[in-house]
Amino acid sequence: MANETATMMDVPLTIDLVVDRAERWMRGTEVVSRRPDKSITRTTYGAVAARARKLARALVHAGIGRGDRVATLMWNHSEHLECYFGIPLAGAATHTLNLRLHPDEIAYIANDAGDRYVIVDDCLLPLFDKVVAAGAKFERVIVVGAPGTHEPYERFLESAPASTALPKLAETDALAVCYTSGTTGKPKGVVYSHRSTILHSIVEVIPDSLGLSRADTLLPVVPMFHVNAWGLPYACALVGAKLVFPGPHLDAANLLELFQNEKVTVGAGVPTIWLGIREALDANPGKWQLQPGLRMIVGGSAAPEQMIRDFDRLGMTLIHAWGMTETSPVGTVSRVPPHLAGADEDTRYRLRAKQGTPTPLVDLCIRNDAGDVPADDKTTGELMVRGPWIAARYAGGHSPERWTADGWFRTGDVARIDEHGFIQLTDRVADQIKSGGEWISSQELENSLMGHPAVKEAAVVGVPHAKWSERPLAVVVLKPGATVTADELRDHLAPKFAKFWLPDAVVFVEAIPRTSAGKFKKTELRDTYRDHYS
Ligand code: ADP
Repeated sequence: MANETATMMDVPLTIDLVVDRAERWMRGTEVVSRRPDKSITRTTYGAVAARARKLARALVHAGIGRGDRVATLMWNHSEHLECYFGIPLAGAATHTLNLRLHPDEIAYIANDAGDRYVIVDDCLLPLFDKVVAAGAKFERVIVVGAPGTHEPYERFLESAPASTALPKLAETDALAVCYTSGTTGKPKGVVYSHRSTILHSIVEVIPDSLGLSRADTLLPVVPMFHVNAWGLPYACALVGAKLVFPGPHLDAANLLELFQNEKVTVGAGVPTIWLGIREALDANPGKWQLQPGLRMIVGGSAAPEQMIRDFDRLGMTLIHAWGMTETSPVGTVSRVPPHLAGADEDTRYRLRAKQGTPTPLVDLCIRNDAGDVPADDKTTGELMVRGPWIAARYAGGHSPERWTADGWFRTGDVARIDEHGFIQLTDRVADQIKSGGEWISSQELENSLMGHPAVKEAAVVGVPHAKWSERPLAVVVLKPGATVTADELRDHLAPKFAKFWLPDAVVFVEAIPRTSAGKFKKTELRDTYRDHYS
């Protein structure tokens, strides 16, 4: 016995494990899609898995091989799920193109990734034509729906003999490609492996993480074209949760109707989506019958504390998570630990509004020039992470400086950590405001402003200032019918922050510009208000 090596089976962690399981053990579970004309179509994991395998055979038959990239330009629906499974079953990687980007940028990304084929929604053909006009080169174009002059997806699915052999997959093979959305620079490719995706899915579902089970019905508002809809389609297939895809209808009323009709138990989306939902619920009390205990996973930007409180009042629980394209994305989740379950309400809400603690298998540290920051909830540094689903490099080896010599990925997020191990993001490095040699956290000011009853949304940016180098400026959207003055908002902030943190100016606007991923577009705000203090 002594020194004997492990005696366990060496099973590679590959996508066929998920697809086979969904087909065999979850075959009757529904996958629901809302179409552009608002009609609903229903299929099952059994049918999706069978069609995904047909797609894989068709791709292999058509010459797609190991390591190739096949792009998708699609909304969230069951055919996109077939691509999520079928393309990697063929040994290739699914490259989800972000339809919210400019056509020039989509073309750049598709060419940079070396996408060979593309599968497109018929309703996105006008956009697709612009992407091609911008120089994107695809060998083959396959269209879901009315194909126009292109090849129909349904015919492509039937194009290979059933005997076509699928390749044997290795767990380190590429499964999917996502590009960072370029909020802070040129988009860069991250290539997920089968192994990283499966491990991420397994940890994503555990109770202390996002907590998903077969009893759940999940509606990913978060698009399948951005960070694989946070990996949730794979995680749902793994546990057999029902999936409800909203297609292109992402406004609050349409989402709430779908939540009601499909008995959704978990939603996932960025804070703006939930802000819209809160507004619709407040404006129409009793209009929608939602599942008791509905959970909403929120990430992508900070969930304001007030929003978490408001949804509790409405009988829904927000689960706050942090992550990024480079981290698959889930890196931390905020769950009040048992030893603080009895803490006062304010403490618990403060914890839930933080980004939380790392999920199993993810390790993090926060460093500044003096080294690792102490757990004093005060000292800030750059958040760094490592783990089996964190990128080790960008495709093409771009920006190697994002990794430290001792193996950490530099997130570009500024954070601090408290005695309970909860991290709180205070800014992105690029969004930090430096006033008179001191740092001011835009995210904390925003969070607090959004706690004022009249404020719907608030973004704070640094604007050049002759004396202080930069001073904060708040851009605020009020709730419908609400009024408040700049001085009242400053009075609201004053008890919580040092005087020099208070924004010198508050600008009231109808809407704050957003990135393709629904975040405040701070580069544009800085540009717009560049001369405000001069
Ligand atoms: P991009 O970098 O182009 O914005 P990502 O979608 O990968 O694309 O965004 C990751 C970033 O989003 C993180 O680095 C962080 O700044 C922000 N983020 C994600 N989740 C949260 C959160 N819960 N709170 C605050 N910021 C978040």
